[in-house]
Amino acid sequence: MPRLSDDRDGLRRCRDCGEWKPLDVFCANPKRPDGKGSYCKPCFNERSKASYARRVKANFDRDVRHGRVVPEGHRYCPACEAIKPLDDFPRNRSDSTGYASYCKPCHNAKGQETRLRLYGGSREYHLRRRYGIGQKDVDELLAEQGGVCAICGAPDPEHVDHDHVTGWIRGILCFNCNGGLGQFRDDVEYLAKAITYLKGSTCQRVLIHPGVYQIFSRARGRPPSLSF
Ligand SMILES: [Zn+2]
Ligand SMILES: [Zn+2]
Ligand SMILES: [Zn+2]
Ligand SMILES: [Zn+2]
Repeated sequence: MPRLSDDRDGLRRCRDCGEWKPLDVFCANPKRPDGKGSYCKPCFNERSKASYARRVKANFDRDVRHGRVVPEGHRYCPACEAIKPLDDFPRNRSDSTGYASYCKPCHNAKGQETRLRLYGGSREYHLRRRYGIGQKDVDELLAEQGGVCAICGAPDPEHVDHDHVTGWIRGILCFNCNGGLGQFRDDVEYLAKAITYLKGSTCQRVLIHPGVYQIFSRARGRPPSLSF
């Protein structure tokens, strides 16, 4: 017989989840006068899955996930409802198995879905994630520098250049100029020395009076004089 506290106003309290629910969402139990058991259907399903898993584990030493037997080295993806080898799942250290719940294609699809929903596209997502700005800021910056690379003037530059220390967005650069700054470790002294160095090994035409130039010869280096 149900304990008194299990029934009230035509509702029954599920012994597992403790929620009061109408009798028709309870599992069947022919031993009771009303034909209904002590657990609501979702809880009952969980119970039978768990006991099935325990039986399989005890009899075959295999793990059951989501109510099905998953072979060693495999995992069930709830999105595509397929059992796949673990290699088809992205790594996830925070999961007890070391792998993410969704297989790689489903994982990527979900990520894209989220990015689209939150940021209206992956470009916007990456801008926000990496630089903390949106496409609107990029467009404004680009307009301020005349729509060209802030260093060499190449059209349609695409690289957001930022100060790695402060995070300050310096401007929009073309691929080469952005990479160039990085090669010089974003260091103004190295860059200044590089200019001096280049000038010292190049013939310089310097304006000394209006219309009058003086040619300075190279201060350093050697001409190529040996041939094989
Ligand atoms: Zn329940
Ligand atoms: Zn999948
Ligand atoms: Zn450039
Ligand atoms: Zn060097």
